[in-house]
Amino acid sequence: MHKDIATPKRTKEILEKYGFSFKKSLGQNFLIDPNILNNIVKAADLTGESGVIEIGPGIGALTEQSAKTAERVLAFEIDQRLIPILKETLAPYPHVKIVNEDVLKADLHKEIGQFFSKGQDVAVVANLPYYVTTPILMKLLEEKLPVRVIVVMLQKEVAERIAAEPGSKSYGSLSIAAQYYAEAETVFTVPKTVFVPQPNVDSAILRLTRRTKPPVDVSDETFFFKLVQAAFVQRRKTLLNNLSKFFKDELDKHTVQSALESLDIDPKRRAESLSIKEFASLANHFNERLN
Ligand code: SAM
Repeated sequence: MHKDIATPKRTKEILEKYGFSFKKSLGQNFLIDPNILNNIVKAADLTGESGVIEIGPGIGALTEQSAKTAERVLAFEIDQRLIPILKETLAPYPHVKIVNEDVLKADLHKEIGQFFSKGQDVAVVANLPYYVTTPILMKLLEEKLPVRVIVVMLQKEVAERIAAEPGSKSYGSLSIAAQYYAEAETVFTVPKTVFVPQPNVDSAILRLTRRTKPPVDVSDETFFFKLVQAAFVQRRKTLLNNLSKFFKDELDKHTVQSALESLDIDPKRRAESLSIKEFASLANHFNERLN
C-alpha cells in the first residue's frame, strides 16, 4: 500500500524520480499535508455519488483525496510535464480523468456534459494557481455551470475580498460579483508551511455555494456589473463623484445627484457602504432612465 501522495516523503520521492522543477509562472505550490487536504475535501460535503472538478492537480495530492470519496473526478492540468506523473500517481484511481488543458480555454459546459451523468451532484475542489485565481473563479461563476459548490484554496487576501460584507475594507466589486452568483464564506486559513515551495502569501479555503437565483433582481446584468465597478473606481471618492464620471456623456452631475436622492441613497456615501440591493436599485434606475 502506497502512502498518500501528499506526505512530504512521497512528494519528494515523486518529484525526484521525475526530476521535476517547479514553474513559478504556473503558480506551482504543492500541498504536503494530508490533513489539510482532507479538510478541503470535507468542506465540499461530497458523497459517494458526487462528481468533482479539479483545476491544477499538480502531482495529484488533492485529486487523490477527492477520489477516495467521489464517484468520479475530472481534472484540468495545463503543464504537460505533469501528465505522465499523474498517470503513475493516480493509477489506483481509474475514475479520475486528467485533461491536459488551460482551464480558462476549456469548454466547461461541454466537458461537464460529457463526463458527469445527467443531474449528478458536482463540486469544484481545487488548490488554485494564484496568478489566475480571479479569472478562474469568475469563469466558473459567470458561465453558470451546473455546480453545487466551489471549494478552493487561494490567497487569504482574495478570499477576504470575495467574502467581504458592506462597510469592510475588503468589500469591493469582486465581493459583489461573486456574491451575486454564490454565498461566500472563508472556511479556514492555511499556513505557508504546508506547501512546497512555500508561497509568499498566506492562504485560505473559500467556499462558494451557488445560488439557484441571484439575491437581487437586475434588469441588465452587464450594466449592473459596469456600474458597480465604476462606483469603486476611486474608493475614497463619494458615490456622486464616481458615478458622475461614469455617466459624464449622458447625464449631468445634478441629475445624478437627484437620482441618488430619489432612491434614498445619500450622494456623499462611498461605494463600500452600499449593499448589493442598493447597487441593484441604482443600476435598474439608471438603466431605465438611459433606455
Ligand atoms: N493540486 C495540487 C496541490 O494541491 O498540491 C497543485 C496546486 S498548484 C497551487 C496549481 C496547479 O495548477 C499547478 O499544477 C499548475 O501547473 C496548474 N495550473 C496553472 N495554471 C493553470 C491553468 N490555467 N489551467 C489548468 N491548470 C493550471
